[in-house]
Amino acid sequence: MECPFCAETIKYEAIVCKHCSRDLRVVRPVILEIQEIVSELDGLQRELDRVDASLARIRFPFRYFTKHTIAYVLAPVVLLVAAHIVVTIKLDVAPLYLRLASVIIPLPFGLALYARQKIGFRGAFLVGVVTAGIAVTCMLTVTGFNDNVPIVPGPWSNGVKLSNISRVSPLRSRPATFLVY
Ligand SMILES: [Zn+2]
Repeated sequence: MECPFCAETIKYEAIVCKHCSRDLRVVRPVILEIQEIVSELDGLQRELDRVDASLARIRFPFRYFTKHTIAYVLAPVVLLVAAHIVVTIKLDVAPLYLRLASVIIPLPFGLALYARQKIGFRGAFLVGVVTAGIAVTCMLTVTGFNDNVPIVPGPWSNGVKLSNISRVSPLRSRPATFLVY
C-alpha cells in the first residue's frame, strides 16, 4: 500500500513508514475503510449498469429492440449470408470454409451480447437460435434463386435439387456452431 504522508510504497503490515518515519497506526484503519468503500462503490456501479440496461429495455422497448436486433441479429446474418455467397457461389470452394465462417462470424457477436447486455445464457442462446434460423433461411433463399430450385426442400425435390441444397445444410446440421450465443 501507499504511505498517505509521503506516497511511497510500503508493506501492508508496516506500522511506521520506512521512508518518512511517520506513525501509521492511526491512519491504517481509515485507509482500510476507504479501500472497502471503493470496492463497495465498484459493486454498486455494476449494479447500476444492470438496472440502467433493464430500465432502457422497459422504457424504450421499441428502440432497444431495434438497436439490438440490428447489432446482434442482422449484422451477423448479413455477414453469414455474404460468406455463404462468396464460398458457395462466387468461389465454389469446399464447404469447410463456410463451416469455419459460420463459427468465426457469430462468435464475437455472441460474446459481446453475453458480456455486455446481461441477458443471461438462455436469452443469449435464444438470440443465437433466431439468428441461425434467419441466416439459414436467407442462405436457402439465395441458393434457391441462384440454382433455381425450391427454397424449402420437400418431397417434390429430386436428387439433383437436393444436392444443391445440401451445400448449405452443413450449417443447419450444426447447431453447436451457434451455441456461442
Ligand atoms: Zn511515508
